[in-house]
Amino acid sequence: MTATSAAAAARATVYGYPRQGPDRELKKAVEGYWKGRVGAGALRETAAGLRRDTWRQLADAGLDEVPTGDFSLYDHVLDTTVMVGAIPERHRAAVAADPLDGCFAMARGTQDAAPLEMTKWFDTNYHYLVPELGPGTVFAADPAKQLGELAEARAMGLAARPVLVGPVTYLLLAKPAPGVPADFDPLTLLDRLLPVYAQVLADLRAAGARWVQLDEPALVQDRTAGELAATERAYRELGGLTDRPELLVATYFGRLGEALPVLARTPVEGLALDFTEAGAGNLADLAAAGGLPGKRLVAGVVDGRNIWVNDLEKSLATLGTLLGLADRVDVAASCSLLHVPLDAAVEHGIDPQILRWLAFARQKTGEVVTLAHALSAGAGAIAGELAANRAALASRAGSPITFDPAVRARAAAITAAGTHRPQPYAERAAAQRAQLALPLLPTTTIGSFPQTGDLRAARADLRAGRIGAGEYEERIRAEIREVIAFQEKAGLDVLVHGEPERNDMVQYFAEQLTGFLATRHGWVQSYGTRYVRPPILAGDVSRPGPMTVRWTAYAQSLTRRPVKGMLTGPVTMLAWSFVRDDQPLGDTARQVALALRDEVADLEAAGTSVIQVDEPALRETLPLRAADRPAYLAWATEAFRLATGRVRPDTQVHTHMCYAEFGDIVQAIDDLDADVISLEAARSHMQVAHELAAHGYPREAGPGVYDIHSPRVPSRDEAAALLRTGLTAIPAERLWVNPDCGLKTRGWPETRSSLENLVAAARTVRGEL
Ligand code: GLN
Ligand code: ZN
Repeated sequence: MTATSAAAAARATVYGYPRQGPDRELKKAVEGYWKGRVGAGALRETAAGLRRDTWRQLADAGLDEVPTGDFSLYDHVLDTTVMVGAIPERHRAAVAADPLDGCFAMARGTQDAAPLEMTKWFDTNYHYLVPELGPGTVFAADPAKQLGELAEARAMGLAARPVLVGPVTYLLLAKPAPGVPADFDPLTLLDRLLPVYAQVLADLRAAGARWVQLDEPALVQDRTAGELAATERAYRELGGLTDRPELLVATYFGRLGEALPVLARTPVEGLALDFTEAGAGNLADLAAAGGLPGKRLVAGVVDGRNIWVNDLEKSLATLGTLLGLADRVDVAASCSLLHVPLDAAVEHGIDPQILRWLAFARQKTGEVVTLAHALSAGAGAIAGELAANRAALASRAGSPITFDPAVRARAAAITAAGTHRPQPYAERAAAQRAQLALPLLPTTTIGSFPQTGDLRAARADLRAGRIGAGEYEERIRAEIREVIAFQEKAGLDVLVHGEPERNDMVQYFAEQLTGFLATRHGWVQSYGTRYVRPPILAGDVSRPGPMTVRWTAYAQSLTRRPVKGMLTGPVTMLAWSFVRDDQPLGDTARQVALALRDEVADLEAAGTSVIQVDEPALRETLPLRAADRPAYLAWATEAFRLATGRVRPDTQVHTHMCYAEFGDIVQAIDDLDADVISLEAARSHMQVAHELAAHGYPREAGPGVYDIHSPRVPSRDEAAALLRTGLTAIPAERLWVNPDCGLKTRGWPETRSSLENLVAAARTVRGEL
């Protein structure tokens, strides 16, 4: 590496940091506030303390600029909605009465006002609240949160860079508000929105911000000429302002492509690009475009989405090339570190030999600082770090964990026949109708029932050795008895065992398969106060023994109604884990699918006639660029068929998806060759039913009629109305009645009432047929 002394000292930064705190203090404070146990002042103080701790750590680690405004009590897109004053009509009174409670009302809904829709943030497992806009939207700047956090960081004597969701991405992520025609394009509001951003920028400058970061990840997706023109207009206008800080437009999650020259010719001072595998192409594109003369380039060379240590030498080579292409090159993680856990150093349960392959947010911050140092001072300045890094990478490449010959041989022997059910769907549907004898509009749930404090306590007791395996099993069986009894009494048609034994739908399986590592503290925000601990898929995958059969068989022994077996599909196992980056994803998916295939066979042999394989992540993992999608969908759907393809024709295979829009993957859903699919639909007013119908989807489907993301109980009439809407798209012979998703985050009282109303709605609508 030849760092030239002419280059200004490279700076190290990150775009955002995990919000939760080392012990998920934020979750506890926010949930405590909701329950009335924590006051507003205490909540604010906890949040401020967490921000201070984060900035202190980042500065101590050697970051030159800390991000502000990326923190959120719930979601930063919701915060942006507040910042631009786009509060939906139905929440305006609540927000005016109390901004904090109003904000939570928008996120979670109240008995009177539905929450904002929630969906995946690009192809991550983070969920944001979708802005609702219409021709009547009036924006107004409300920079209080941004100004407050900037002031806090500056009070600590730090160079702080406020981070905002950029105006183009904000509008591209928005949806027409309820009642606004579906073809309304929120981007038409750009001219109305820009003055609000101008105001916020002026206020931030006045408050001492030298730089402001505007996040525009939407520009790494395929964009129309009109959208690119709007982008250019936006940044010409913001760049042309005189009273503003310097502007850094940050892009991540992929290659910027045709938006790169567009942004490069606007008068913004800096551009941040993703130079990890996901952003492959940015380097060549940048060189082809003649670089960014006169601008600051922030190079995202440390992958912000996975947990593997950086290949420092490779990153240094990239940075070295970039030095010639911009005025100033700074080093960053490729995206906000929100998507990785906080600190690998606290994972005492992981073998130290493996631990050195891993880097979480804190370690990644260190990598960014190390690389910036080498970029300024030369590779010789980090010789020790480079040697340790080389050794860690070599130990991973040569480990028996990453190569199991038996798994490799089985995966290599898969034939086309192994990935297809021999009978066509129509034939299977008839066999299943005869076997299951369900009523029209059959009712079911998605799998989990409330994960009560008692259940979590039982698991904690087992881990701590306070109870033995026998006692734990009995507690789980008692819960299954209760769940089955409730469902029989409520009159549901296809029952579930309730998943009481599962801490999490991915982790539960990961703990029983080889190749996965578990973390103790590796929490990552999924939405609001919901955090998950993604397992680390580090090696070859196999199934030492049955994983779910005894619970499902026990539940089935308690009832004459069919009990659904419940598994997590291969794509979701990958999507909600940190996956290995040393082989194609499709190869990893096949290994998981083969393990599930054995589980499916064991369930069927144990008398299970309905088996659900959840793939809620199928859509979220869809590549952001259309050109990359066919290859992904080919391996993803094949993995599902590999997992489910060996069952008898009268065994009904279900799948389930949620948290996303499905319009663009209906063909892929069809290609799964499942018999029944349940989908999230309640918040989007059964939109998905129409999308399935428009495609001519021939199978059975249950668009959700009960939004389980909020404690609100849907009335019978409300569920019935949604069902009638569903019937306008899907005929009664193929329509199922179910909630949007599992009930694990809900309490028993609301679950009972909601499911009773759901069954009552099904009966009402059956009576109308
Ligand atoms: N079967 C799972 C459950 O009910 C599905 C969860 C999900 O799709 N996210 O909890
Ligand atoms: Zn779901």
